[in-house]
Amino acid sequence: MKYKRILLKLSGEALQGRQKNTNIDTNILEQYCDEIKALREQGVEIAIVIGGGNIFRGGQAEALGIDRVQGDYMGMLATVINAMALQSALERHGMYTRLMAGIKMEQVCEPFIRRRAIRHLEKGRIVIFGAGIGNPYFTTDSTASLRAIEVQADVVLKGTRVDGVYTKDPEKYPDAVKYNTLSFQEAYEKNLNIMDMTAFTLCMENKLPIIVFDMNQKGNLLKIAKGENAGTLIS
Ligand code: UDP
Repeated sequence: MKYKRILLKLSGEALQGRQKNTNIDTNILEQYCDEIKALREQGVEIAIVIGGGNIFRGGQAEALGIDRVQGDYMGMLATVINAMALQSALERHGMYTRLMAGIKMEQVCEPFIRRRAIRHLEKGRIVIFGAGIGNPYFTTDSTASLRAIEVQADVVLKGTRVDGVYTKDPEKYPDAVKYNTLSFQEAYEKNLNIMDMTAFTLCMENKLPIIVFDMNQKGNLLKIAKGENAGTLIS
């Protein structure tokens, strides 16, 4: 395995899948579990940050007459709902997990304590970081970058529905070309929108590589951890 400790960022929006009446598609959860289990079985230490976009985003608040900061906290709570669903699914598949949150909620998760998180990882537990950083005006991408640095992960793996970073939006432009590798500088200059600026800068300043890949492609996560070229590496 090229990477021994990874931080996997999953979007909340993807968890919705094709569901119309609920926010969480169990088929997607199952698929994520299979991918994560294959990686865990190889001994890779896994930390996960999952978004909340399928339930609530802070950016939606103002249109609803809700204060922005309040909305951001609602978004953070949304990530905890997803994290709990994921935790439950991972455990059903026989994996050991811990959920640590950036906001105190002792009945459902542990508070985030860096040393304890590292210890969990060393013991082979999958650690899910819920409730973001615990502060408004941040995103789960920033949470992924920050937590990855804190627990000394080797790489941030950003699972998306496209297989990497393209010269332009591949869903709109058929002539878009995929990058296999990119430098942080190049990604910044070309304004490639890999993550929000806060998240991106944190990775760049701390020399933490990011790999953008297609999480819906079976076996991809394992391939990436082995160092195979199955996405776009930004380093
Ligand atoms: N959020 C926040 N601080 C954090 C992490 C998340 O305020 O540290 C809020 C923010 O409002 C965001 C929402 O939680 O819109 C859901 O997260 P995000 O939009 O990143 O989820 P995704 O797009 O990955 O599903």
